[in-house]
Amino acid sequence: MKVVLLVQYRFEIKVFGIVQGVGFRPFVYRLAQKYNLSGYVLNDGNGVEIEVEGESCSVDMFYTELKQNPPSLAKIDKIVKKEILLKNTKTFEIISSSKSCVTTSLPLDVSLCDDCLEEMRDEKNRRYNYPFINCTNCGVRYTIIKSLPYDRVNTSMSFFEMCQECSKEYVNPKNRRYHAQPISCFECGPKLSLFDGKSREYEDVVEKVVQHIKDGKCVAIKGVGGFHLVCDATNDEAIKNLREKKQRVSKPFGVMFGSLLEIKDEVEVTKVEEKYITSQQKPIVLVKKKNGSKLSDLVAPNISKVGVFLAYTPLHVVILEKLKRPLIATSANLSSEPIIVDDVLLFKKLSHVVDVALSYNREIVNPCDDSVLTIVDKKAIFYRLARGYAPLSFYTKNKTSKKILALGANQKSSITLGFDNLLVHSAYIGDLDSISTMEYFLNVIKSFEKLYGFVADVVVCDKHPNYESTKFAKSYVEKNLHVELVTVQHHYAHALSVMCEYGLKDDVLAFCFDGTGYGDDTHLWGGEILLCSIKNYNRVGHFREFALLGGEKAIKEPKRVLLSLLFDIFEKEEVFKYKFFKNYTQKELQTFYTMHSKKLNAPLSSSVGRLFDAVYALCGLDSISYEGESGLVLESFVDENIKDSYTFSVENGLIIYDEMLKEMLQETDKTKISSKFLNTLANIILEVSKSYVGLKVVLCGGVFQNTTLLNKVTKLLKDSGIEYFVQQQTALNDGSISFGQAYYVKEKYE
Ligand code: ZN
Ligand code: ZN
Ligand code: FE
Repeated sequence: MKVVLLVQYRFEIKVFGIVQGVGFRPFVYRLAQKYNLSGYVLNDGNGVEIEVEGESCSVDMFYTELKQNPPSLAKIDKIVKKEILLKNTKTFEIISSSKSCVTTSLPLDVSLCDDCLEEMRDEKNRRYNYPFINCTNCGVRYTIIKSLPYDRVNTSMSFFEMCQECSKEYVNPKNRRYHAQPISCFECGPKLSLFDGKSREYEDVVEKVVQHIKDGKCVAIKGVGGFHLVCDATNDEAIKNLREKKQRVSKPFGVMFGSLLEIKDEVEVTKVEEKYITSQQKPIVLVKKKNGSKLSDLVAPNISKVGVFLAYTPLHVVILEKLKRPLIATSANLSSEPIIVDDVLLFKKLSHVVDVALSYNREIVNPCDDSVLTIVDKKAIFYRLARGYAPLSFYTKNKTSKKILALGANQKSSITLGFDNLLVHSAYIGDLDSISTMEYFLNVIKSFEKLYGFVADVVVCDKHPNYESTKFAKSYVEKNLHVELVTVQHHYAHALSVMCEYGLKDDVLAFCFDGTGYGDDTHLWGGEILLCSIKNYNRVGHFREFALLGGEKAIKEPKRVLLSLLFDIFEKEEVFKYKFFKNYTQKELQTFYTMHSKKLNAPLSSSVGRLFDAVYALCGLDSISYEGESGLVLESFVDENIKDSYTFSVENGLIIYDEMLKEMLQETDKTKISSKFLNTLANIILEVSKSYVGLKVVLCGGVFQNTTLLNKVTKLLKDSGIEYFVQQQTALNDGSISFGQAYYVKEKYE
C-alpha cells in the first residue's frame, strides 16, 4: 500500500480589532478542531495571536472562515498571516492571557442576548430570572474594566468568587460561557438591594420596585453605566413631579420599553430604526410620535419626536416584564453633572428626587450614559456616543510617532487618545461647567492613561481660552515641560472628525453650522464654510455676523438675537414696535439698543444655531430651556409639502439673509416660516457647493442634528450629483471635537 504524506505548514496569524471578550479564542479553538489543525491561540496586548499547523488546504479554509465568519461581537480591523517554521505540535490549545504592550481595542458593553434571555425565562434553569445573566456574547465589559487585558481579575467582578458550577462553564471551551469574564449566578454573583439612603432590603426587591413605579413614585435603578431615574411614562402626575424636582422644564426624556411590539404601539418605527432599536447596543433612538399614544405628553413636550429604547440588561427585562408599561429612564444626575454610579452619592445629590433605589454590589468602574441616535437617510446620526459604541477604537491608515491626548470642547465633552495607528475616542462626558463633570473628565483621562500605559507628548485643545478643557491643557503643559501644546480651531475640528472617519485626504468644502465656537478673529463662529485639507483650512465663507446682546445671556433668551438682527436692518423706533418685544420695558429696549450700537457686551457671531433661536422668537416663542430646543420645536412645525424658500444672497462667500428676515416678518404662520427657513438653509448650502465644482462636501456641527434640515440638504446635494459626507461613527455635535483634534495632530506627525 502506498502512503501519501501530505506536506504540513505552520502559520502565525495576528488579528487586530475588537477580538477580546467576544468569544474569539473558543471560536478559533473550535475552528482548529474542525480543520484538524494543531497550534495555539492567545490574547495579547495587541489583539489575538494564533499559530496553526496542518495541511495547506485546511489552513486555507481555516483562514477564510476566520476572516469571514468571526463571532458576532468581534470586529476585525486588521489580520496578518505569515508562514513560520514547523513545530510538529499535536494538539490545539488556548493559552491564557499574557501582558505585553497594550494597544488592543476596549471591549464594549453588550445588551442581553437571545440565548441568555431564553435561559432566564426557563423556570428549570439555574439562572431563571437571574438579573446578571451573561455569556461570551453579551453582558457588561467596558464599564467594569480596571486594566487590560480584559480578564476577570482586571474587572470589578474580581470581587466575586466563582462557584463550582460557574467555574466549570468558565473553563470549558465548548461552553457558551467559556471565559465570559462576568460569569456568575445566584450562588456567586452580585446581589440586588433596595436602598432608601439609610437602610437596605434584600427580599423581593424587584417586586417592590415595580410596585413603587406603579404607585407613581420616582425610583433609581442601577444599570450598566450608572443609575437611571425611572418613573411610569404613562403617568402625567409622576412625570410632572420628576420635572419639578429635577428642575427640568421641557428637555425630553428617553423611554424604555419591554418589547419592540410595545414600542410600535406608541411610536412610528421604520425598518432601519427597528434595526437599531433591536441591535446588540440597544441605543436610544429618536423616532416620530404617534397619535393616540399612551405616553404622557410630558415625556417630550412641544416636539414631534421621542427617544425610545429597549430594556438592555437582564435586570431591566425582569422589571419591565412585571411592570407591563413603558418607563421614563433618564440618567441620574443633577442637570449638567455626570451620571451617578454610587448609591450613597445618589442620595446625597438626589434625595429630593428619588424615593428609593434598586442597586447592586458590583462597582461600575467606568461610568457610561446611554447612546442616543436618530436615523437620516437610512443611516445613524449620533447625538451621544456612549454605551455600546464607546470607547470607539478607530484604526487609521498611517501610524504616528507621537502620543496624543486630545481634550475636546467644553459642551458634550469627550477625550481622544492617539498613538500608533489607533485613535481611542471616549464616551460622552458632559458639559465641563460643573466641578463634578470636571472631576469626571479628569478621571476619564486618568483611566485611559492607565488602561493604555499612556503618557502624552502632545496635548490638543480648542482655541477658546475660557473652555475648561483649554485651561486644563495649558496647566498640563506648564507642569510637563516636554509636552507640546497644539490648538485646533473648533469648526476645523468638526470637519476633521468627518474627514478622519471617511479617510478623506483631498480638499473638502465643509459646512460647519453649530451653536458657537471660538473663531480665529476672536468672534463667535458658527455658520462657517471652510475649505479644508488635513493640514490646514481657509474660511471661504460665513453667515453675516450679528451682535449677541449680553453674550451668553442671548443664548437663553432668543428674543435678544432677533432684536439684534432687526437693529441691523431697521431704525430703532420701528424695531421697538414689534410684538415680539412687548414684554420688555422701553428702558430695557433702550439698553439693548445701546449695547448694540456701542458694541458693549455684544460679541459678534455668525452662528446658525443662534439664527434658529431668532426664528424661534420670530414664531412668537419665548425662552429656551435646553440646548437645541429651538431647532427641535421649529422642526415640529415643518410641512414637507411647502417647497418655496426665502431670499438670500452670497457675496464673496458672505451669506446675507436680511431679505429673508424681512419676508419672515410678513408671515404669521409658524409652519410656513419654519418650512421656508429650513428650505432656505438647504438652498444656501446647495448654491455654495455648486460654486466649488468637483469638491466633496462635508456637513458637520450640531445644527445638522436637525434631521429635517439634514434630509433636505442631502436630497438637494444628491439630486445635483454632489458627493457629501456626514459622520456616522462619532457624534455630529461637539462630542466629536476631540476626535478631530487628535486626527489633526496624528496627520501632522505621521
Ligand atoms: Zn448571552
Ligand atoms: Zn455561580
Ligand atoms: Fe461645535
